[in-house]
Amino acid sequence: MKLCSVDKCDNKQFARNLCSHHDRKVKIARYPLYATWKGMQGRCCIVRGCQINANTYFKKGIRVCDRWTERYPKGIENFTADMGPKPTPEHSIDRIDNDGPYSPENCRWATYHEQRLNLAKPGRTVGVSFSKHYKQWIAHLQHNKVVVLHQMFPTEQAAINARLAAVQKYIYAEKQQ
Ligand SMILES: [Zn+2]
Repeated sequence: MKLCSVDKCDNKQFARNLCSHHDRKVKIARYPLYATWKGMQGRCCIVRGCQINANTYFKKGIRVCDRWTERYPKGIENFTADMGPKPTPEHSIDRIDNDGPYSPENCRWATYHEQRLNLAKPGRTVGVSFSKHYKQWIAHLQHNKVVVLHQMFPTEQAAINARLAAVQKYIYAEKQQ
């Protein structure tokens, strides 16, 4: 049995004279987005060895585009070129259309909070309701038992946007301090 070429490592060789652990380390050092790229493949894939999320992403029909599924290192190189670097370590890959694929058109870097906002959809946004009396949409937000937003808008989307902005301003900004 051949051993990993890294000094003092007794693991079995996996690829390129390295064990799987050190092979992964080399890939991550070479491609900062390697873990993100690999995780994305794993979520959408049902080939042997990466079926962790096969029941969710794969069954929902969420796939990774062809450009990003090319063999290493081509796939990770395409992914890096299309997405650019992560703006901060808090950012992760986000699909703009939540039912859509992992592809350059449908992906962006977003923080956890931005990803939550992206899930807001017409007809089911907390704090947004329609007033039959005024025939307007009302955006409502309470923070620390104080009403910080209670305003009417002609469209549901305008009310959603106003509420999201208020959440950002009052709740999220405070948590970051
Ligand atoms: Zn090793």
